[in-house]
Amino acid sequence: MLQEPLPTNSCLIVGGGFGGLTAALSLAEQQPRRPVVLIEPRQQFLFQPHLYELLSEELQAWEVAPAYRDLLSNRGISWIQDRVVSINSSAQTVSTAAGHKFHWEQLLVASGSGPNDFGIPGVKDNALGFQNLDDVHQLKRLIRELRRQRLNNASLVIVGAGPTGVELACKLADLLEGRARLHLIEQGATILPNSPAFNRERAAAALERRDVTVHLETAVTAVTPTSIELNSGNPLAHHGLIWTAGSRPNLPDISPAPAMARGRLAIDAQLRLVDQPSVFAIGDVSCCESEPWPSTAQVAMQQGVAVARSIQQQQLDEHPTAFRFEDRGEMLSLGIGDATLTGMGITLAGPLAFGIRRATYLTRLPGLSLGLRAAGAWLLGR
Ligand SMILES: Cc1cc2nc3c(=O)[nH]c(=O)nc-3n(C[C@H](O)[C@H](O)[C@H](O)COP(=O)(O)OP(=O)(O)OC[C@H]3O[C@@H](n4cnc5c(N)ncnc54)[C@H](O)[C@@H]3O)c2cc1C
Repeated sequence: MLQEPLPTNSCLIVGGGFGGLTAALSLAEQQPRRPVVLIEPRQQFLFQPHLYELLSEELQAWEVAPAYRDLLSNRGISWIQDRVVSINSSAQTVSTAAGHKFHWEQLLVASGSGPNDFGIPGVKDNALGFQNLDDVHQLKRLIRELRRQRLNNASLVIVGAGPTGVELACKLADLLEGRARLHLIEQGATILPNSPAFNRERAAAALERRDVTVHLETAVTAVTPTSIELNSGNPLAHHGLIWTAGSRPNLPDISPAPAMARGRLAIDAQLRLVDQPSVFAIGDVSCCESEPWPSTAQVAMQQGVAVARSIQQQQLDEHPTAFRFEDRGEMLSLGIGDATLTGMGITLAGPLAFGIRRATYLTRLPGLSLGLRAAGAWLLGR
């Protein structure tokens, strides 16, 4: 494997999602400028909060998933379309899936998270996810099939009643128009355990209006192509299963092995790995034990801005400032034309909340640069 030099003094970012892209854009605006190199395997940035609207065709793919080529053009950021497979912090190198090896002077890990099946038998082979464009396409096919087949007892099961499971259940109920019974399974005692009470109540009412059957304190123990085994002992037949019950970090192989917190890269309040302070990590891939910020785009974007400042401070031999999360509230989509929001002293539900949620996110979409620069702006939901 040939080692390839990056420009002197460059900052290498692994992953161009909410955290990594925000950091790259913030770093590229600093004076004096330093070279910024982003390694990201996807062609398009993915605005996950709008995946529901992509499913319902209330928004189009170009609005939800703008191309990196367009987002990064003329911004002084070099994009390498590749996947990092390993990081050697002693040698200060990363190796990629395409067989390249790069030497870095400053590294930021922002590779996000993916679904977690917790090793439950059958989930990997028989469940759909709801994380990316492929998942949306597969789900659209399933909806088309269920609408076409007009089965008598069709049922669709969503596992996990966090924000993704609840938002998806409402949207699917609207799209299926009664062609399948929807079940929402949650092993905890409530839906949306981390949400403000107002949003939780509005979401519960939205699920009830749509006749979604919510199974609380129910754990999935195994999944087959046509049924789900539950801890209650009563299996549930299904014509489609969507798994939204957990996430785990996308971690390249890192040596020496870094300290972990709650299964993620352990970081300090300055967003540095606790045992390798020359490396920064932000977003879903990381966890600060003393301040476990939620795994949301809102946190990742704020950290992207903060880490750019910290990297600059470190370069100037100043002590990096501790990251402070400013919670701007939560917005949830609750089906076609409906939403609920709580934040900045406002609680609102219904079509107006839907309009505000959509407008708030859309202002962050054109070119994304504006929105990402204004990451500190009003609500980003969750
Ligand atoms: C359906 C859905 C709806 C959501 N809605 C909201 C919402 O309304 N509000 C909110 O705040 N949050 C929401 N979230 C959560 C939010 O999307 C995540 O918390 C956020 O994306 C985390 O940002 P990140 O930068 O850590 O990771 P990501 O944005 O996931 O970015 C990680 C990037 O790293 C890349 N990558 C992965 N591995 C590698 C590798 N080895 N090498 C190089 N690159 C790599 C990936 O391709 C990806 O582009 C939602 C999530 C989902 C799934």
